[in-house]
Amino acid sequence: MPKILIANWKMNKDLKDAASFIKAFKKDIKKIKNSAAVICPPFTLLHEMKKMLRGSSIKLGAQNIYFEEKGAFTGEISASMVKDAGCEYVILGHSERRQYFNESDELISKKVKSALKNSLKVILCIGETLEQRNNNSTFNVLQNQLERCLKDVSEKEIENISIAYEPVWAIGTGKNATSEQAEEAHKFIRSLLSKICNKNAAANAIIIYGGSVNENNIADFMRIKDVNGVLVGGASLNPETFAKICSVRVL
Ligand code: PEP
Repeated sequence: MPKILIANWKMNKDLKDAASFIKAFKKDIKKIKNSAAVICPPFTLLHEMKKMLRGSSIKLGAQNIYFEEKGAFTGEISASMVKDAGCEYVILGHSERRQYFNESDELISKKVKSALKNSLKVILCIGETLEQRNNNSTFNVLQNQLERCLKDVSEKEIENISIAYEPVWAIGTGKNATSEQAEEAHKFIRSLLSKICNKNAAANAIIIYGGSVNENNIADFMRIKDVNGVLVGGASLNPETFAKICSVRVL
């Protein structure tokens, strides 16, 4: 299965920065085999980035959507709008959305449905806080988030959802999960999926790790059996660094 490498630029880069990133990154990405790179820039860059990425294998993703199709929702952007801007993917349920914008599993589940209805592939983020890990409630948290966010999603639709295991304590902190912690969580997520959908679909589901991934630790994550890719924040902002992450040899 090809690995998927997702760049989450968060609230960073203007048009000039994005253009110079793509110019440098495109040169390196040509050499990358057996993996798919997805860049998720801020909304304001989507239309122009679609043009910049034309003719390359790099895919475009959004960092969020609102679940309504259209109407009086000032400041919001719908699934069909990001699709129209050229997105194939959307990140949903990121811990920063949960933490700073009070996004609940219920809201995220509505966004998941809307994204799927508009033929977007969903990258659904789940993960425990440090406090929850220390309380031994990691598995409970992952199970609740997964089941609630995938409520009303059909077995067929799950094929278009990748699960990103992102321990909150590892995001932007430089403290990545150990290989053992990631392996255990990914295995658990796959076992949960096998209860939600059929065994075959669960075995083929894409489960990716996110949290302080960089060019030095990427190989450790890619070696783990149930890790099918990574979601990268800080280290995806530099084209050379992200290219190194994308170039890691996958056996
Ligand atoms: C993220 O934003 O999803 C993320 C994993 O960030 P970082 O790589 O900076 O920890």
